[in-house]
Amino acid sequence: MAAEIHPTPQTRTPILLSKIEASQDVVNTAVIIPKEDGVISVSEDRTVRVWLKRDGGQYWPSVYHTMPAPCSCMSFNPETRRLSVGMDTGEVSEFILSEDYNKMTPALSYQAHQGRVTVVLFVLEMEWVLSTGQDKSFTWHCSESGQQLGSYRTTSWVSGLQFDVETRHAFVGDHSGQVTILKLEQDSGSLVTTFKGHTGSVTALCWDPVQRVLFSGSSDHSIIMWDIGGGKGTAIELQGHNEKVQGLCYVPHTRQLISCSSDGGIIVWNMDVTRQETPEWLDSDSCQRCEQPFFWNFKQMWDSKRIGLRQHHCRKCGQAVCGKCSSKRSTIPLMGFEFEVRVCDSCHDSITDEDRAPTATFHDSKHSIVHVHFEPTRGWLLTSGPDKVIKLWDMTPVVS
Ligand SMILES: [Zn+2]
Ligand SMILES: [Zn+2]
Repeated sequence: MAAEIHPTPQTRTPILLSKIEASQDVVNTAVIIPKEDGVISVSEDRTVRVWLKRDGGQYWPSVYHTMPAPCSCMSFNPETRRLSVGMDTGEVSEFILSEDYNKMTPALSYQAHQGRVTVVLFVLEMEWVLSTGQDKSFTWHCSESGQQLGSYRTTSWVSGLQFDVETRHAFVGDHSGQVTILKLEQDSGSLVTTFKGHTGSVTALCWDPVQRVLFSGSSDHSIIMWDIGGGKGTAIELQGHNEKVQGLCYVPHTRQLISCSSDGGIIVWNMDVTRQETPEWLDSDSCQRCEQPFFWNFKQMWDSKRIGLRQHHCRKCGQAVCGKCSSKRSTIPLMGFEFEVRVCDSCHDSITDEDRAPTATFHDSKHSIVHVHFEPTRGWLLTSGPDKVIKLWDMTPVVS
């Protein structure tokens, strides 16, 4: 007799620490300041604000700076306290924050793009500021002189950018759904390769330089883990979100991936398990289980006087099967399917309850998310949304 499975209620969830009513408009980027009870935010309302926690437990602005245009993105380097802000006008402005985070001093400003800056990334090791814009260009500037070092035309505007310091590779995720890998030199960039796997635009990228794994999130609701270090071209799909993925953070010491979607969903994926790639879908003119013809197979339909059926595919084995032979659904966590998908009857019988054990936990932030940031030393997560609110979460109950 099969053992009865009682799903254990999810008791370990992120703890909401603070809610900051952060601006008059969407907070496009915000970061937690490490070792400090502070947050830096940039907003569509043109403000750059530094929030510090006061005695009453509330966050109050210690810096409130109005920029000439809406602030679209930002990069903060805690070691140098350098803040790079990208604007709607294509300009990048840099500031140095004082040690006590009560003052912000302008450093450099330059016209990096002809349109809205979509991502800005400061790389301390290279003294480079990488940026992408809606003008479909990717540029890198010297952070000391503000001089442009190089640029590269992208096929579409970019929403995800990561950089590997060791090999000087830039990962550029764009609106067309592809990820371009560029090798950057001091004054030139060359195309290495392109990854195509999403059916929607790439909305977020996250690079783990230790495992050498790239994660891409998309408006098609999926995440793909591109195993570059493995050298075998493995790409694993993670299916768990019901809306577009908006942010990804990898936690190296626990080997967990945190992903957030626009419907407020937060998923913590255990990446310490070996997942399998999803199979290629097989082509057949008849069901690969019961051999009934599919509807375009007129010859067999005529010969055997049978009705043509619609083709489906089993997500586990990839076989082309009819609806009757694939009537059951199952999660397949080890293939990245955390929600139920179509499987053929024989695969359904082969999946055990143990196989169905989830490899991710699901949480609700209760606000639509446009941006996330994870601070690993305390295990805090920041989410910001179109509701103009920043939420700070203690993730240690689920990230450990
Ligand atoms: Zn069939
Ligand atoms: Zn199957």
